[in-house]
Amino acid sequence: MNNFAYQREQDVNAAIAKVASGIDSKFIAGGTNIIDLLKYNLTIADTLVDINPISNYHTIEPTATGGLMLGALMTNADTAYHPIIEQKYPLLSKAILAGASAQIRNMATNGGNLLQRTRCYYFYDAAAPCNKRVPGSGCSAIPGYNRIMAVLGTSENCIAVFPSDMCVALAALDASVHISGPNGDRVLAFTDFHRLPGETPHLDNNLQHGELITGIELPVKGFPQNYSYLKLRDRNSYAFALVSVATGLELEGDVIREARIALGGVAHKPWRVKDAEKSLIGKTANRENFASAAEIILAGAKGFEHNAFKIELAKKAIVRNCIMALNPSTQLPGAQPSV
Ligand SMILES: Cc1cc2nc3c(=O)[nH]c(=O)nc-3n(C[C@H](O)[C@H](O)[C@H](O)COP(=O)(O)OP(=O)(O)OC[C@H]3O[C@@H](n4cnc5c(N)ncnc54)[C@H](O)[C@@H]3O)c2cc1C
Ligand code: SF4
Repeated sequence: MNNFAYQREQDVNAAIAKVASGIDSKFIAGGTNIIDLLKYNLTIADTLVDINPISNYHTIEPTATGGLMLGALMTNADTAYHPIIEQKYPLLSKAILAGASAQIRNMATNGGNLLQRTRCYYFYDAAAPCNKRVPGSGCSAIPGYNRIMAVLGTSENCIAVFPSDMCVALAALDASVHISGPNGDRVLAFTDFHRLPGETPHLDNNLQHGELITGIELPVKGFPQNYSYLKLRDRNSYAFALVSVATGLELEGDVIREARIALGGVAHKPWRVKDAEKSLIGKTANRENFASAAEIILAGAKGFEHNAFKIELAKKAIVRNCIMALNPSTQLPGAQPSV
């Protein structure tokens, strides 16, 4: 039994000050990840500061530049079903609804989704060496069973993947993360928020201790005409992605004017290769050109004993998802093919 203090806080500055002042103090939002981590003794907290009573961050607000600010404390479900998100950012709605279960999405918050930990089996096994959980202890996944692990951006210290669906769409949409902390406010581009494992696999992202995510900003462009999110997994629902793809296209006739492609389930962060997207501009939107872009995105991919299949799977998923984006109205609502 681990004793901890639980405090509800209405004032953002007070919440930040409480967490910043204690090394083992943590925020809790929906609790769908942090409670599991505490129960399995994978993380320590002597104080949990419940940020749900802070009133400011539960809504979606328009921004001065024509985009939207998603409140960090809004639930994943309320975000996905919000009429403006369904109309202007259906890619985000579809990605959120591909994740978890209805019950979890009703509790999980937008800020918490960005900060969920990996689902590496060995990370969740407190008896197994794991550099992410205990720096310097070793990585059990590299010589072990690594079917769900990364094929891009790995290091000799960690091959875990970041498991979020929502974040794959946010990366494709060029979102940014609004943060308040003991030293003031800052904004990070979404692609700079999560980290690769490198020498520091215990750090998932660039948030500092005591910093609070207040919102996620969506720029004006939401690709509502041509978008698709494809999640491939071992089970058709309630499972994390082996590979997922978020695609947004802007077309003039059948010529691509802008392309966004982000991958999930393959790296320690949502994976975007801007050169691949640029290579599509001015080209015809067809299978052949999407396949060439997929080759660029997977360049340098490295498989391990049980997950090398992900490289080919990701290439095929990219092509299929880009083709589906050409005509999103033909996609069945919520339909996600299994592997
Ligand atoms: C069985 C199961 C299946 C799942 N399947 C999927 C899936 O398929 N796809 C998917 O994307 N996700 C999936 N999830 C993960 C789920 O989406 C996350 O657990 C959820 O989004 C986390 O949000 P939360 O508000 O509950 O976070 P919490 O558990 O409350 O917090 C998570 C972490 O974020 C910190 N935190 C929370 N909010 C803030 C904030 N505003 N600022 C700073 N720090 C903060 C907390 O201190 C904690 O460290 C699944 C979860 C479960 C339990
Ligand atoms: S892949 Fe990363 S999270 Fe998994 S055991 Fe290795 S170090 Fe730990």
